[in-house]
Amino acid sequence: MNDFVFSPPPPVALPVRGQHAAFAVRRVYCVGRNYEAHVREMGHDPDRTPPIFFCKPTDAVVPVPDAGGAFPYPPGTDNCHHEIELVVAIGKAGRDIPVAQAAGHIYGYAVGLDMTRRDLQRAAAKAGQPWETGKAFDASAPVGPITPRAATGVLDSGSISLQVQGQPRQAADLSQLIWSVDEMIAQLSQLFELQPGDLIFTGTPEGVGPVQRGDMMVGAVDGVGTLTVTVT
Ligand code: MN
Repeated sequence: MNDFVFSPPPPVALPVRGQHAAFAVRRVYCVGRNYEAHVREMGHDPDRTPPIFFCKPTDAVVPVPDAGGAFPYPPGTDNCHHEIELVVAIGKAGRDIPVAQAAGHIYGYAVGLDMTRRDLQRAAAKAGQPWETGKAFDASAPVGPITPRAATGVLDSGSISLQVQGQPRQAADLSQLIWSVDEMIAQLSQLFELQPGDLIFTGTPEGVGPVQRGDMMVGAVDGVGTLTVTVT
């Protein structure tokens, strides 16, 4: 079919370091409560109950070049928080993927921000309602270029951090993930068939907090790169 009543949206695509071709994004999965100290700061007890998965719409992804990008302060909130996260890019389809084979499904890695309208998320959680208004809003997922796994190797340790206006806000190590990347891929693939183009936001460490218009956020993950985003 090539005739549409409205023009189809352009694909959402992230550049890949060292490649001319881009990574077309299919779905955006996110994992909640995956670093102990962040679980505690959100008022919960860390444990190994199955991970919390939620989704953002594909067009919530804002590709951010290394030179930096913009995050428009969203409507409907007075408490929009930064959450720096390692983003895993899936390159091979699969369901019921064993943990031992999960790394083979990883195409690469990126640095991402799971921007969150914390006031709306908390109100929804309190009322037993879905998180969409808190998590899945327009431009809520700034993501930098993808670094292929072929270049990084499998990342299971290394620093992850975020500064706002030059001040350290979040700092941790990927080895502190409650559920490892391989375990997340295995569990997610029991619930959804993963496909090339899927992104997985792997959770944020402690230190989340509000941003204001004009703030410059600089996130980094060892071996993957930095992500510079200004709140506009
Ligand atoms: Mn998050």
